[in-house]
Amino acid sequence: MSYPIETIRKDFPILSRSVNGRPLVYLDNAATTQTPTQVVEAMNDVYYNYNSNIHRGVHTLSNICTEAFENARTKVASFIHAEKTEEIIFTHGSTDSVNIIAESFGATFLNAGDEILVSGMEHHSNIVPWQILQDRHQIVLKVIPILDDGSLNMSEFRKLLTPKVKLIAITHISNVLGTINPVESIIAAAHQKDIPVMVDGAQAIQHLTIDVQQLDCDFYVFSGHKIYGPTGIGVLYGKSKWLNKMQPIHGGGEMIKKVTFEKTTYNDLPYKFEPGTPNYVAAIGLGAAIDYIQKIGNQQIQAHEEDVFNYAKEKLASIEDLIFYGTATHHTSLISFLLKGIHPFDTGTLLDKMGIAVRTGHHCAEPLMDHFQIPGTVRASFAMYNTREEIDALHAGLLKVKQLFG
Ligand code: PMP
Repeated sequence: MSYPIETIRKDFPILSRSVNGRPLVYLDNAATTQTPTQVVEAMNDVYYNYNSNIHRGVHTLSNICTEAFENARTKVASFIHAEKTEEIIFTHGSTDSVNIIAESFGATFLNAGDEILVSGMEHHSNIVPWQILQDRHQIVLKVIPILDDGSLNMSEFRKLLTPKVKLIAITHISNVLGTINPVESIIAAAHQKDIPVMVDGAQAIQHLTIDVQQLDCDFYVFSGHKIYGPTGIGVLYGKSKWLNKMQPIHGGGEMIKKVTFEKTTYNDLPYKFEPGTPNYVAAIGLGAAIDYIQKIGNQQIQAHEEDVFNYAKEKLASIEDLIFYGTATHHTSLISFLLKGIHPFDTGTLLDKMGIAVRTGHHCAEPLMDHFQIPGTVRASFAMYNTREEIDALHAGLLKVKQLFG
């Protein structure tokens, strides 16, 4: 069966709008993906037909809503192949998930002098929470360096793997370079030394099939809005052997079993980490996004994205003075580049005038920009609905930018 690109594009109404008088070419999918009608309708359905606070009610609407929320958790568990549904904690997003892990893991397991390993290509949200721990628990943050093609320096990684390391927190895919990191090997090497690994899957969830049991990662985090779901919802997957031991860091309703002024006992997983009213509408929306992806098929989406990416790589390589950042062999469907002598903001602004949405700047990875000694890049990132024609538009747009800058 051929890839149903026409039908898919119709499912995303925003794709048929125009921007600055030109048809929108949306190539900013690493920042956020667009949302199909099916997801918006699933959330409308909650508000129009069964909205009610979950878990605490005996009435019909509350029960329907609770069931839909827990059903979304089951969908997430099956989507990433978690062993147990209780290992799926709903959060506000990847950033929130990393912060919860950092704070809770730090409070439970870390002591002064313990080391955490991150890599030189991390998003700020997988750097700063650990730096906050540096101040709080006097832990030491060590950085796995990267090579010039944007891959990890694995021999340096092995040297850094000393008994002082208590956790590795690493991105699965770089949001700037597109590098797919060898997380399986990292996890295997770490586990030989009993070191747990947290994987930041914010970029990978959109492009790869994730099997947390096969990866054997201890924690995996991602955001709903990067897989065609709503904003304000994310996932923290953790092996129950860790989560059961970890202290909750936010208190309130729902995360308790019994409260007295003398002593409070905490709820079981996953509720121990979900205080207050969760964003159940967005969780239900995320469930609908997963249904949508699975209806099209992960393999089909990946093959389509690869085709668009390869086409883009070839087209952009033909532009004189275009420099690629991130040329590692294992690479996802995004391209970071600069036009020699032209500031990325200027490129992005001019492309926007032509209706083409790309992201420019440091992409929340300033240490990586320092490594390459550049202020930022232009990033075009592709999703299930992008087409070769849109790449032609990007190519033509970049030639125009070059012409305007003489
Ligand atoms: N990690 C990576 C690699 C990312 O690309 C992003 C989003 N750009 C995040 C973490 C943070 O995601 P969110 O803003 O949805 O919390």
